[in-house]
Order: sequence, then structure tokens, then C-alpha cells
Amino acid sequence: MSTESSTLKTLIIGSGPAGYTAAIYAARADLRPVLYTGIEPGGQLTTTTEVDNFPGYPEGVDGPAMMVDLQKQAERFGTEVMIGMATAVELSKEVGGTHKVTIDNNKILETKTIIIATGASAKYLGLPSEQRLRGGGVSACAVCDGFFYKEQEVAIVGGGDTAAEEATYLANICKKVTMLVRKDHMRASKAMQHRVNAKDNIDLRYNCEIDEVLGDQLVEGLRIVNNQTGIKEEISITGLFIAIGHKPNTEIFKDQLEMDNDGYLITVGKSTKTNYPGVFASGDVQDKEYRQAVTAAGTGCMAALDAERYLASIESL
Ligand code: NDP
Repeated sequence: MSTESSTLKTLIIGSGPAGYTAAIYAARADLRPVLYTGIEPGGQLTTTTEVDNFPGYPEGVDGPAMMVDLQKQAERFGTEVMIGMATAVELSKEVGGTHKVTIDNNKILETKTIIIATGASAKYLGLPSEQRLRGGGVSACAVCDGFFYKEQEVAIVGGGDTAAEEATYLANICKKVTMLVRKDHMRASKAMQHRVNAKDNIDLRYNCEIDEVLGDQLVEGLRIVNNQTGIKEEISITGLFIAIGHKPNTEIFKDQLEMDNDGYLITVGKSTKTNYPGVFASGDVQDKEYRQAVTAAGTGCMAALDAERYLASIESL
């Protein structure tokens, strides 16, 4: 294990909209940020096709292309973008202290501030047919991709608030939405359930699970199974939305940073401050409610401003 000789001002972990926006602001503030991309450079947007809801792109933008642009913008101001994964952290509780971050289990970086933008990953069912058709009709984001299924028949799996909210969203766009809930009840709040029940074009199926996603290059249907009776049935759809929850990428911060019961980082008030001085969290890793590229970018900007102010305050100590 080697330790880099100089201490960084700002280390950014993660390369989605939050990480790159933090980098743009930090670089322009002369913090000479170093950004480590993580295992999925560009983050969740690289798994989507067209992004239609990011302001400033009247014709929409290709998700992976937008992330390349964000990277270039961050680099233009001097951000050093590095491929690598933060695998461990040793945070200092002292104001003005130095934090240590291990990269790829073989290099230790020392830094005065850390901006965490490691995001969250959508959970998938894990069926081989589902994995094969990701990007070919299987999506984990109705708000991102629902529009492409306008007037078509789609299905959504999950029974929580996200599934209920997304089913309602899809019902406004699509001809029919089949909602598959594995239990005999939904976990979603009553208010959300009422919204689902109020939609005539949502076909709610309890005790139903997906046996296989049908289709070669594109989704053509589902084979579903009633887990009470074992009866299988095929339905025709062109889009399948998985809404069974997200997992924040916070494993390496356990036992140090404060998290809620689902593992999302807790920030102080309206800031991006965590319970460690000089450690800031932005994007989906601290937001289970909005989870949009534009909101992630907003909190990335906030984290860079918080880091800049923190560095100014410790310099004057
Ligand atoms: P949840 O963990 O609350 O719900 C996940 C749902 O997916 C459950 O119904 C669960 O079923 C189901 N599920 C999990 N694994 C599988 C599987 N393998 N096959 C089939 N179904 C499966 O996640 P959400 O993303 O819905 O919500 C996360 C948090 O965000 C919650 O606290 C929620 O309240 C909040 N939220 C709030 C919103 C709002 O207030 N507007 C909007 C969206 C989210 P089971 O019940 O059987 O475990």
C-alpha cells in the first residue's frame, strides 16, 4: 500500500451529475479537485438512453453523452479525473484534520475535504432475461424512460411508494400498466395506494412475480406466476419497469458516517455536511426522495460550496 505524498484540498468520490457538478464548482474555486469515478464511470445516467428532463436540452440528450460533456466541463477547469474505486476510508473527527481514502485497495490518498457522490444503485430482480434486456425495454426509472412507451402497454414490479408513484406516472402516459406486487398487499402508503386505485388503466396483480421476461432484443412480454396457485400466464408488454428499491452506495462509510435505516447518508439541515468535519454528501447517496439528475447536480454544487467555505474556515484557524 502506498501513500500519496501531498495532501489534497478536495477529493470527490463518484462521477454522476452530483460528482461532476461538485468538480466544476470546486475546480473553479481553485480547490484543485481530484475525482475518482467509481466502478460505473458516469453513474446511473449511463444506463439510460435519452434524457429529456435535464434543463437546457430542448431536444433531449443521450445519457452517456451528457456524462461525457459533464466530465469535459469539469476537466476544463482543472479537475483531475481518475478511474478507480474508493475501497476504504479513515475519517478524522478533528476540525481541520486529514481524512484518508484508500483507492482500489492499494493506494492511500490524504485530503482535507471529501465530497461523497457515490450515488445509489437500483435493485433488480436478478433474472437473466431481465439483465439481458436492460436498455431494450427493461428500465429502473419510469420518470426517465416512461415517455418512450407512450400509448403502449407496460408492466411495473414492486409494491412500495416508488412503484405506486411510478405506476401512476406511467398510467398518465401509457395505454395500460400492469402492476405486479409479490404480496397480497402493498407496502406503499395509503395515499399512494389510493392514487393507484383511482387509475382505470392500472391492472393491479397481487401475489404475482415475474418468471421470465420475454423477447430477444426488445421486451415483448412477461411470463408471470401467481405465487399462491403456481399458475403461470403470459402477458404482452413493450416496457418493464423495476421499482423494488434502491441501495445507496455507502458500504465503505459504515461505522463512521451517520446513515438512516436504509443506509442513506444523513446531512445536517439544508446543507451537505455530514457528522464529520470536512466530509460532505451530495446526490442520491443522501436523497431517497427526489433522485433526479438535476437535483443531484444541485446538491453537488452545494457540496462544493460547503467544502470551499470549510477550507476557508480552517485556513483562518
Ligand atoms: P421499498 O423498499 O419501500 O419497497 C420496495 C418494494 O419492492 C416492496 O413492495 C417490496 O416487496 C418489493 N420488492 C422487493 N424486492 C422484490 C422482488 N425481488 N420481487 C418483487 N418485489 C420486490 O422501496 P421504494 O423505492 O418504494 O421506497 C424507498 C423509500 O423511499 C421508502 O421509504 C419510501 O417511502 C420512500 N419514497 C417516498 C416517496 C414519496 O413520499 N413521494 C416516493 C418514493 C419513495 P415487499 O413489500 O414484499 O418487501
